Amino acid sequence: MSHETALSSQLFERAKRIIPAGVNSPVRAFGSVGGTPPFIASASGAILTDADGNEYVDLVGSWGPMILGHANPQVVEAVREAAGRGLSYGAPQAGEISLVEEVARRMAPIEKLRLVNSGTEATMSALRVARAATGRDVIVKFAGCYHGHVDALLAEAGSGVATFAMPGSAGVTASTAADTVVVPYGDREAVRELFARRGGEIAAIITEAAPANMGVVPPADGTDLRDGGEGIGFNRFLAETAHAAGALLITDEVLTGFRASAGGYYGIDGDGWAPDLMTFGKVIGGGLPVGAFGGRADLMDLLAPLGPVYQAGTLSGNPLATAAGMATFEGLDEAAYAHLDRASAQLQALVADALAAEGVAHTIQTAGTLFSVFFRDEPVRTYEDAKDQDTAAFGRFFHSLLDSGIYLPPSAFEAWFVSTAHDDQILDRIGAALPAAAKAAARG
Ligand code: PMP
Repeated sequence: MSHETALSSQLFERAKRIIPAGVNSPVRAFGSVGGTPPFIASASGAILTDADGNEYVDLVGSWGPMILGHANPQVVEAVREAAGRGLSYGAPQAGEISLVEEVARRMAPIEKLRLVNSGTEATMSALRVARAATGRDVIVKFAGCYHGHVDALLAEAGSGVATFAMPGSAGVTASTAADTVVVPYGDREAVRELFARRGGEIAAIITEAAPANMGVVPPADGTDLRDGGEGIGFNRFLAETAHAAGALLITDEVLTGFRASAGGYYGIDGDGWAPDLMTFGKVIGGGLPVGAFGGRADLMDLLAPLGPVYQAGTLSGNPLATAAGMATFEGLDEAAYAHLDRASAQLQALVADALAAEGVAHTIQTAGTLFSVFFRDEPVRTYEDAKDQDTAAFGRFFHSLLDSGIYLPPSAFEAWFVSTAHDDQILDRIGAALPAAAKAAARG
C-alpha cells in the first residue's frame, strides 16, 4: 500500500465484529480482489475521500446512481429543501407524480408506474404482477443477469453472485427454484425450445435490457445475424416469443435506465417492439433509495387497491428521494449525455491503450455510455464467456489503480461508471495511473 489506511482498517475490523463481513452489500467487502475496502468519509464530484484522508477518482458512482457526480449542488439543494418540509409522510405528495411523469416521458412503454425503494423490490413486484396477469408460475431468466436479491432470480445471477462464483443462494426453497428456468444469454434456440415445451406454464421472461452485471454484454441487434437473428434484435425476439405464448416480457433497466442513453437501453434498442413491464432504480433516485416498476396500464391496474395484487411500502415515494430523483433528471439534458458519451469513450481508449501496450488480454464492451473491461481477448456473449477471463490479472490491475487513487468496481464482472463530473482533468488522473496498472496486470 502506498497510502495510509489505518483508520479504514480499524473501521473494517470494528464493522466485521457486528456486520456480516463488515458490509451491508457483499461486493463492497473486496472479497474477490482482497484487501481492506476504504471507508468513505465524503464524496464530491468524481472524488471519494476515505477515513484516512486519501482521495480516489470514483469509477463506481454508488453502482450507478451518481450520474451527475457526488454532492451535485442542485441535487443536494433539492434534498435539503425537501428535508425542511418533513422526511416522510406516508401519504401522497406531488413529487411522486413529477418523478413518475418524468420516467414515463422518457420511456415510451410506461403507461403507469409505481415507486418502490430498490431495484430488488421493483423486479420482485413485476414478477408478482406478471404471475397474477397470466395465472402462470414459471419465470425465465438468463444466466449472468442480475435482478436484485429476489429469491426467484438468484439462480446463476450476475453481480456479487458472479463475483463470488456462487451458483445461486442458499435459503431459496426448492419450489421457488423450480419455478425459475435459466437460459444461456442470447441463445434463441434454447428460448424457442423452452417455449415449445413449456410455453403454457411461463408467466414471463425477465432480462436486463442490456446485461451489465456479468460485465457489459449488449443484446444482439437486428443486424447481428450470427445467432440466427433474422434481422430481429434479441430483445424484440424475446417480446415476440413471449407474446406468441401468452407470456409477458419484463425488461430490467435498473442499471441501464437513463444511463445507457437518455431513454435507457430501450432508447437505443426499442424499435418496433415493447416490453410489457419494466423496472428501474439507481439513477431515478439520484443516490437515495428509489426503484420503480411499470408498463402496460392494464397490468399495473392489477395492483391493490384497484386489483388483487398486493404491493406496498412505508417509505415508497419518499419526498427526499423523489426530490433527489427529479433534480437528477433536471441535470440529465442533452449536454449531460454528450458529456457521458465522450468521457466513456475517452476512458475506454485510455484503458485499451494501456492494456495493449503491456500485451494484457482485454475486450471492452459497451451498451450506450455504459462499458466494462473483460480480461480476455475474445468477445463475451454469455455468462460462460464472462467467467472465462483472467480475474487474477484484474485483481492486480485493480490494486495498482487503488494504490494510485483510482477506485474501480472491485470485481471483474461489473460495469465501470462515469459521471458528468468526470472531466478532462479527472481523465488525465486516470490516464496517468493506467500504465503502472497495466504492467501489474501483465506481471502474472
Ligand atoms: N436489476 C439490475 C439490472 C441491477 O443492476 C440491480 C442492482 N445492481 C438490481 C436489479 C437490484 O437493485 P437494488 O440493488 O437497488 O436492489
